[in-house]
Amino acid sequence: MNNEILAFDVAIIGAGPSGASTALKLAKEGISTVIIEKEKLPRYKVCGGGFVYRGLSNMSFDVNEVIETKFHTVDIFLGEKLHFKTTRKDPIISMIMRDSFDELIIKEAKKYGATLMDEHKVMSLEKNESLTTIVTNKSKITAKIIVAADGAYSPIAKMAGWKTDTRKLIPALEYEVYVTDEEYKKHCDSVRFDIDAVPGGYGWNFPKKNHFSIGVGCFENKTSNIKALCEDYINFLGIKNITSIERHGFQIPVSARTDGFVKENVFLIGDAAGFADSITAEGISNAIYSGNLLADAIIESDLNIQETENSYLKKLNLRLLPELESSAKLAKWFYRNKTLRNLILKKYGQRFSEYMGDIFMGTKTYPVDVYDTLMKKVKNAIL
Ligand SMILES: Cc1cc2nc3c(=O)[nH]c(=O)nc-3n(C[C@H](O)[C@H](O)[C@H](O)COP(=O)(O)OP(=O)(O)OC[C@H]3O[C@@H](n4cnc5c(N)ncnc54)[C@H](O)[C@@H]3O)c2cc1C
Repeated sequence: MNNEILAFDVAIIGAGPSGASTALKLAKEGISTVIIEKEKLPRYKVCGGGFVYRGLSNMSFDVNEVIETKFHTVDIFLGEKLHFKTTRKDPIISMIMRDSFDELIIKEAKKYGATLMDEHKVMSLEKNESLTTIVTNKSKITAKIIVAADGAYSPIAKMAGWKTDTRKLIPALEYEVYVTDEEYKKHCDSVRFDIDAVPGGYGWNFPKKNHFSIGVGCFENKTSNIKALCEDYINFLGIKNITSIERHGFQIPVSARTDGFVKENVFLIGDAAGFADSITAEGISNAIYSGNLLADAIIESDLNIQETENSYLKKLNLRLLPELESSAKLAKWFYRNKTLRNLILKKYGQRFSEYMGDIFMGTKTYPVDVYDTLMKKVKNAIL
């Protein structure tokens, strides 16, 4: 342990898309910023790596070098009988691997002067009157503002005083599946989502440059059998001639915390705050978006903690929180009412798939009156 205490204006814990984007924006404004990351970069992150257009189109610099594949068409399947296809002029989903994507944003932030301390795991926050010291396994750091961008488990939120976890965490698996060239060619042209591939959830196949990222997420059904279900899903997809599989599992927080996003000088963003979409579990674009909102709040408030808090909460309430509230209501209904939902999808499936396409593109958001709208559709489908 180095005894020297390093001082920064802002310390960001976590080098995922939320933390890296915050660092980039702050560094561009000349604010002294450190990113503290427990892993050595680049590091593998359990993630499908499907980056939707609303996130891609808002990137402040060109990330094409880390895009593996782009898809203008998305296929949504409901069992073997129902299939909806949605196409857009711009790519609905671009595929990334998170090691290179996250590292690219960090590199960009470093260009503007941000400091990266990777392989520094935050162990505790020590409070001493008005000063908080971040203690890592190798160093001590102080900062006026601390950003917890440390993902689904968010140890920093616990250290900062969030006692109970009010987010909804769902289990999800991600398998990196390598096949022969011939087999790859058979399946590489389609991005597919299979609703009910697992009970109360869905499965996906995201073709990357030379392999498939295949996974399942269980939104409603607490199954202990998720590994077997993922293997079944790979069989269902008809993917054969597998040369190797890397199996990973993690949790996705699919609802926002209900007990706030700020405590004293500690601010939560991305998964630490619970900002992934409740229906799709798509979290990268909102991680970046929330990081950018916080960076704007810090910059506009000139590092004043109270003003930053007010401004960050105001910005979150403009779009992200109402959208997440609607998506949470819809997700509950969608994953719990299989029979009724399937009846509706039979009639309105293409419209649903176009709507999800628009959400991914960023041209629409979930309606605020989502429940009423849905009930009207239920009545129309039944009558
Ligand atoms: C199986 C699965 C599939 C997914 N697929 C998709 C998808 O296809 N598309 C999509 O948009 N989203 C997807 N998601 C969600 C997405 O991965 C997250 O929403 C996103 O990574 C959130 O970014 P973040 O920056 O908030 O946190 P993270 O990306 O989790 O980054 C947190 C960082 O903090 C670091 N950290 C943690 N603790 C400490 C500590 N004590 N000290 C220092 N550093 C620490 C971690 O090492 C990590 O690098 C998926 C998630 C899972 C689990």
